[in-house]
Amino acid sequence: MTTHLVWFRNDLRVHDNYALSAACRSPDAQVLALFIATPEQWRAHNMAPRQAEYINQHLNALGIQLAERGITLHIRQQTDFSAAIEEVKQFCQQHGVDTLFYNYQYELNERERDARLERELDGQVVCQGFDDSLLLAPGTVVTGNGEMYKVFTPFSRAFIKRLKEQLPECVAAPAVRGGRLTFTPCELDYPRRAFNPLRFPVDERGAISHLRTFCQNTVANYGEQRDFPAMNGTSSLSAPLAIGVLSPRQCLYRLLKEHPSALDGDSGASIWLNELIWREFYRHLLVAYPRLCRYRPFIQWTDNVRWNHNPEALNAWQQGKTGYPIVDAAMRQLNETGWMHNRLRMVVASFLVKDLLIDWREGERYFMSQLIDGDLAANNGGWQWAASTGTDAAPYFRIFNPTTQGQRFDSDGSFIRHWLPELATVPGKHIHIPWEWADKQRQILDYPRPIVDHKQARVATLAAYEAARQ
Ligand SMILES: Cc1cc2nc3c(=O)[nH]c(=O)nc-3n(C[C@H](O)[C@H](O)[C@H](O)COP(=O)(O)OP(=O)(O)OC[C@H]3O[C@@H](n4cnc5c(N)ncnc54)[C@H](O)[C@@H]3O)c2cc1C
Repeated sequence: MTTHLVWFRNDLRVHDNYALSAACRSPDAQVLALFIATPEQWRAHNMAPRQAEYINQHLNALGIQLAERGITLHIRQQTDFSAAIEEVKQFCQQHGVDTLFYNYQYELNERERDARLERELDGQVVCQGFDDSLLLAPGTVVTGNGEMYKVFTPFSRAFIKRLKEQLPECVAAPAVRGGRLTFTPCELDYPRRAFNPLRFPVDERGAISHLRTFCQNTVANYGEQRDFPAMNGTSSLSAPLAIGVLSPRQCLYRLLKEHPSALDGDSGASIWLNELIWREFYRHLLVAYPRLCRYRPFIQWTDNVRWNHNPEALNAWQQGKTGYPIVDAAMRQLNETGWMHNRLRMVVASFLVKDLLIDWREGERYFMSQLIDGDLAANNGGWQWAASTGTDAAPYFRIFNPTTQGQRFDSDGSFIRHWLPELATVPGKHIHIPWEWADKQRQILDYPRPIVDHKQARVATLAAYEAARQ
């Protein structure tokens, strides 16, 4: 009998999982599954304790689902990727594995790990890797010169054209292959922190039903609602997508089922699809420009910007105490839930880099340490976009005004009031500049005054970038 091993990494699901499906194709093969936790590697990558808990719970849910199908999930704990390689080799030897199946990860360390493992298993175990976490594989959406796009819009156009030619295949969960097994839940040895299971369902079926409800009820209004953090206008599916509890193909198929014309026009469904394509864009970029995984900017001269070293200001930003209500409310949302609305990610990132002139990498690291949906490609892409060090640097130099952003996207202050109870008594129209109101009323607020003057900071930042460019 042949033995197949599926090495699960960032693909903790049984539905539409290319590696799992391929391993189960032959009904006679014995199929085993393995997951290797690598806490030291996670620490080096600043994985958030909430994401670790989210992985832990999904791993246990996956173990049960696989056991119901007659497949045992073995969970091992090692230190880092080198140790993980040894673990896989030993496992293969012990269980007489003939073929190893896994889905590619696109980050540099992960790709180097897989390349080394393939070399070391050469001649003993056949390795089969799959492009699974994307709608279209890296390197398949390129310019006429065969290069990766450096700007999103033409990438997106080419991407949709490819999808219209042929949709990627969505594969079913494998059939039951033998008696039901038992699974012993694991406890990962990494700091873990609770998250809200109503917001982030804790098994694959929960994520699938969340996707269905979103596509049936909310996506039609996505265009109008997606920028307003007080509304529930976005999908909140970034967490299951980040650890592979859900695949982007499942998202695409569900979207097209509910909105068959999503590949055309500018409906809410089309705009949401465009967000999924941003996710693809940043992953394709990581492969085309591996330096992005090494904390290097996409636009190289921006490495010359002289950043402020200001631990106090950084701390105020992290704690949500900058005196700019929309920034502070957003940071409290992040710290308390592990998630932040996209509009606010842009606002707080711009504030850290363009108002405080603090190195974007500090923000990138802090986000990773808090986010339940932490994802290197999307996080790096988002930070570099906000810092104007990345692709899509606008023709003008983008600096968000944190006060007008708040006035525009939380006009009655309901989001701010929810996260900053200390501003509860400030009337809606003054909530974005609470101290101006408090001074006039001769009131003292239990809330900091702005730690920086936006207008002055704007001038200083423009000068710092200009100096770096020369
Ligand atoms: C500074 C900054 C940091 C970010 N860090 C992360 C991160 O670590 N992990 C992460 O998944 N997203 C990140 N994003 C992108 C985006 O903010 C989140 O994906 C989104 O807010 C998640 O909410 P949602 O699932 O409701 O999104 P929806 O609006 O419902 O979008 C659907 C899906 O598309 C993808 N997506 C949406 N917008 C983007 C985008 N701009 N870039 C890449 N993918 C996108 C996500 O997978 C998301 O779940 C970041 C953005 C910025 C500006």
